Amino acid sequence: MAQTAAARAELDRRGGELHERIAELVALCTPDALAAMPALGEPEVADWQQPPRYRHSLTVRGSRDPAVSPETLAAQVTAALTAAKWQVAAANTQNSAANRDESAGGLVVDGSSEGSQLRVRFSTTSTVVLYTGETPAIALTTPEPDRRPPARSADTVDPGHVLCYECAGTGWCPVCEGRGWIADERLGRRRCPECFDRRVCPICEGAGELAVARLSPVQRANYAHLPDGSK
Ligand SMILES: [Zn+2]
Ligand SMILES: [Zn+2]
Repeated sequence: MAQTAAARAELDRRGGELHERIAELVALCTPDALAAMPALGEPEVADWQQPPRYRHSLTVRGSRDPAVSPETLAAQVTAALTAAKWQVAAANTQNSAANRDESAGGLVVDGSSEGSQLRVRFSTTSTVVLYTGETPAIALTTPEPDRRPPARSADTVDPGHVLCYECAGTGWCPVCEGRGWIADERLGRRRCPECFDRRVCPICEGAGELAVARLSPVQRANYAHLPDGSK
């Protein structure tokens, strides 16, 4: 399977934008951490569905000036993200767009843009500021042709049989067309609800043909050239 260059370029563009955005926030809140900020590396596997998807992610840890409060910095982060046209998580405190996450003892600002997410967490019990971010997961390979070849054609149908009216001889499940999966907006793909991975046509069980002698009257109605019994 070949990586598609366009998808990789798009993933790296998103990664670059995320890296630039986090670098800006680090410079704003914890400039000492800027020098130790990792460069954009290789994307990692986000999930192993077929085709596998990849994302860039980034974690930076810094220490703020104890004289500047987390609330002040959180407001600056919110302003910087907004200026860069990132969406910032809805405010639930009165004077900033930051969320006070009591369970973790910190003040959190979440940003998102084009499916990329970042989070800045200010500890309220220490000077630690943690920046995390990840791009959306993007498939980098084209799906393998995973359909089996058509079972029958007009030339190869057995004597005394007709091509299956449901699958026209392919033997493929008509919902997933023999792939075993269907496209899903959220998951990329999901198991076929018709055949549950079996991939085969429910009428002919994958044979691609039906014995004329065993056709039911309803099935027979699909074949105008019968009932002479020939193919
Ligand atoms: Zn199916
Ligand atoms: Zn069939």
